Amino acid sequence: MRQSPDPSRKSEIPKRTAVSVAEARELILASLPALGVETVGLREATDRVLAEDIAAERLIPPRDNSAMDGYALRAEDATDAPARLAIVEEIAAGHDPQRKLGPGEAARILTGAAVPEGADAVVMQEQTRRDGSEVILEESVSEGQHIRRAGSDVRPGTQVLAKGRGLRAADIGMLAALGRTQISVVTRARVAILATGDELVEPDRLRDDGRIVASNSYALQAALLEAGAEPVLLGISRDEPELIAEAFRRALRCDAVISTGGVSVGDRDWIKQVLAELGGDMRLWRVRMKPGAPLAYVVLDGRPVFGLPGNPVSSLVTFEQFVRPALLTMMGHTDVFRPVERAQLSEDYRKPAGRAHFVRVRVDSREGRLHATPTGDQSSGVLLSMVQANGLAFVPEDETWLRAGGEVPVIMLRRDDLRPEPGY
Ligand code: AMP
Ligand code: MG
Repeated sequence: MRQSPDPSRKSEIPKRTAVSVAEARELILASLPALGVETVGLREATDRVLAEDIAAERLIPPRDNSAMDGYALRAEDATDAPARLAIVEEIAAGHDPQRKLGPGEAARILTGAAVPEGADAVVMQEQTRRDGSEVILEESVSEGQHIRRAGSDVRPGTQVLAKGRGLRAADIGMLAALGRTQISVVTRARVAILATGDELVEPDRLRDDGRIVASNSYALQAALLEAGAEPVLLGISRDEPELIAEAFRRALRCDAVISTGGVSVGDRDWIKQVLAELGGDMRLWRVRMKPGAPLAYVVLDGRPVFGLPGNPVSSLVTFEQFVRPALLTMMGHTDVFRPVERAQLSEDYRKPAGRAHFVRVRVDSREGRLHATPTGDQSSGVLLSMVQANGLAFVPEDETWLRAGGEVPVIMLRRDDLRPEPGY
């Protein structure tokens, strides 16, 4: 085995006192670089952040058109119901009316078809009777009914979407309706993921030799994709400072870097040391939270570097708390936090004062109330209880005993499995 470098090198690491979760979050969110912009087509625009204001340049709809299948006519011709009108033409969507409507005349019209000149109302087919080339109206008609006016959706100059908007399906539909095929959006953050640890192997190299899979890289890859970032897997580095330094140098081609493991106080925990030697500015190390206390946040070459702890749950919880909001902020989002629900705790939870706890819970809705139940073993290495959780209950630093039946705030990691039924 290679000679371990002298642990006394670590004395150069600046001492940092542990900070609270809120302090760590504020500190990180206050110091992030903004990303550039790029032009993309509509398919790629989904969930991206708009980097330009979008105003309408024309009328939508472009012309007065029918909201129904029926008959276009002059309302004044139907004041004395029943009325009998001559059908002079048929107008389908996409076909121009051929003539102006005169008194006593009606045009058969289909939904979306342009209303002919002279007509000022449409009567639904279901409220008429047809008699050869005539239509009979049983009831009077009010002017303007069932006509969608030109520009009733948007008009030239209407501000439709503002810069900073996270684009969703309706937005993409609107952009298409305006004739926009290319739009300017914030680039996705390219994020390097580096696993560190002599005990780690890639999943396809798993053998019965006691080594464990560097599963954090894959969990984080998924979390990054879900957040709209672009993960770049850098593989596994052994716990050797030179190798870790080399990996970090490669990582600097990305917009941000996440490492896992090696960030605590063990003899072979080199992350903080290596980042300091590379010229990184360590802004924080250690947060008063569980899981996830050892956490280094370093600015290196203008880029955020997150040295996350190695335990699988710690790395995911610290990602959720700090990395995800940071990357969303860099990518131009304004809503960067998960929704928080208040739920009734279904069992007592006791802990020592001093660190905030993020408790893996399963939140269910029963009889109009949300209930949070811890999903089992809360050790930071137990991934199964994270798999079974859909939320993280937040227990403040000073709290020591939450009673069953009391309310806790729960950070919702997923909400689509909260209620098994549609609820309406
Ligand atoms: P460390 O933070 O390096 O002390 O690692 C803490 C624990 O997390 C150890 O049990 C490691 O084996 C485990 N661990 C470290 N890195 C990973 C990883 N990438 N995937 C899964 N477990 C890991
Ligand atoms: Mg390690």
